[in-house]
Amino acid sequence: MKTILKTDLTVADIKEGFVYNEYEGKGLFGWGGKLTIQPEYQRNYIYADGKRDVAVIESLLKGYPLGLLYFVKTGKDTYEILDGQQRVTSFGRFITNKFTIKDDNGMEQYFDGLAKNLQDKILDSQLTIYICEGEESEIKEWFKTINIVGVPLNNQELLNSIYSGPFVTKAREEFSNSHNAYIQKWSAYIKGDVNRQEYLATALNWVGRGNVEKYMSAHRFDNNIDELKKYFNSVIDWVSSVFIDVKPEMRGLEWGRLYETYHKNSYNPAEVSKKLNDLYSDYYVTDLKGVCEYILGGCKDTKLLNIRIFDDDIKRKVYNKQTQEAKDKNVSNCPLCALGNDNNKDRIWQLKEMDADHVTAWSKGGSTDIDNCQMLCQTHNRAKGNR
Ligand SMILES: [Zn+2]
Repeated sequence: MKTILKTDLTVADIKEGFVYNEYEGKGLFGWGGKLTIQPEYQRNYIYADGKRDVAVIESLLKGYPLGLLYFVKTGKDTYEILDGQQRVTSFGRFITNKFTIKDDNGMEQYFDGLAKNLQDKILDSQLTIYICEGEESEIKEWFKTINIVGVPLNNQELLNSIYSGPFVTKAREEFSNSHNAYIQKWSAYIKGDVNRQEYLATALNWVGRGNVEKYMSAHRFDNNIDELKKYFNSVIDWVSSVFIDVKPEMRGLEWGRLYETYHKNSYNPAEVSKKLNDLYSDYYVTDLKGVCEYILGGCKDTKLLNIRIFDDDIKRKVYNKQTQEAKDKNVSNCPLCALGNDNNKDRIWQLKEMDADHVTAWSKGGSTDIDNCQMLCQTHNRAKGNR
């Protein structure tokens, strides 16, 4: 791979022909059309927050360097920004009057409203640019390395760069577009930031059955995202028809896995809703994230609910009572050991060697008070399992 250091370009050169797409949230072109500011695989413009974009302009006005920019040579006289697109988009948007900064008197000023000497200071700022040329694979490897500095790319952003192509472009239009009217509905079930590709990551994770990379690699040159969309919508439609309630804990559940496991079962949404709300108001249920799967699985796996356990005070009282009675009868203080016929049948376990057990399981209506508590040796408690 070849790298050239270029220091003769200024902000004025790069902002020539600057195009910003407000709808997609992307700076598109600059340097008289020779430079693609935001190639497909790059993240959306995330500096537009009135802080980071303003900071870029303030740096220029103070004469601070913008930091290294990395361009890739893609043709005879064409380039793409590999690193620095947020900074370039910031000054491009400022110069085209898309946002304001505060002047010395605290007044908001667009570029056009700045004094001529300040405008010139920005335009004449020199840039330090590395231009690299090489095989796609070398450049991608290098891209991984340089992105360790600054705001690092997350995993999906990195995958978008590695598997860039028509598929990623279309997939981003659908799943990384904060103007998509469905985002609101999807956000009931999906966690994360649309702009940071987290909805796309979820959609790919579902259709790829957990293997995003394999799916992206296989579909990289597809000209449509039909399967991805269809599968994603099947999952969302299924969840929203089975669960008529929307609870905060539903956000970010593994809906793809749940869909695969349970979508062939039939559920009565009204009954599901009643069960769900009962469990939500049940004092003993401490893990609300497990409620949906518990219901989908037929209300059997109570481990998913992390049922509230007995406190130390109850355990000690039950232990003392059980142990005293066991010593009187010369049997083990674990009632199940006492029934057995091995060396443990008269063994007195210490408190720390025992666990509390619900005599009547919670799932069968047993409560977590002292009358429903027994202490078992750990082996027997584990074997009993069902709370
Ligand atoms: Zn035992």
